[in-house]
Amino acid sequence: MTERTFSILKPDATRRNITGKINAVIEEAGLRIVAQRRVHLTDAQAKKFYEVHAERPFYGELVAQMTAEPVVVQVLEAEGAVAKYREVMGATNPDNAAEGTIRKLFALSIGENSVHGSDSLENAGIEIAQFFKDEDIVG
Ligand code: ADP
Ligand code: MG
Repeated sequence: MTERTFSILKPDATRRNITGKINAVIEEAGLRIVAQRRVHLTDAQAKKFYEVHAERPFYGELVAQMTAEPVVVQVLEAEGAVAKYREVMGATNPDNAAEGTIRKLFALSIGENSVHGSDSLENAGIEIAQFFKDEDIVG
């Protein structure tokens, strides 16, 4: 089934000017970038986006990192896009990420790990709606 997932190229990626390199890995994996926008997340946006992690010890650091520099928000489309993108991203901790994954190639640390990707189809829908109108997604 053709699915859409939500992606963020995180501040460590925009800061190092490697968003094109990451997009090349995404496209080579067969995911199509059907919407994309560069934004500087507000504190409120980042807190809401990562609400599920509010009780975790790294929440404050995560929100600070995500608002420090611009990000690129994206919608990716493919057969089984949610699981496919999680595979292309690699494990949260780059030390555990498989060869060739975005996080193995580019992540600096478990916190500054270059990309976000939705963890379920349901969350993908919720996350996409936080950043994109239907008419701005062109598949
Ligand atoms: P993922 O991004 O792989 O879905 P999580 O949803 O568990 O991972 O965590 C969200 C984000 O929070 C991670 O991508 C990472 O930036 C940050 N994070 C997760 N665990 C830690 C940790 N132990 N220390 C610092 N930051 C973390
Ligand atoms: Mg997650």
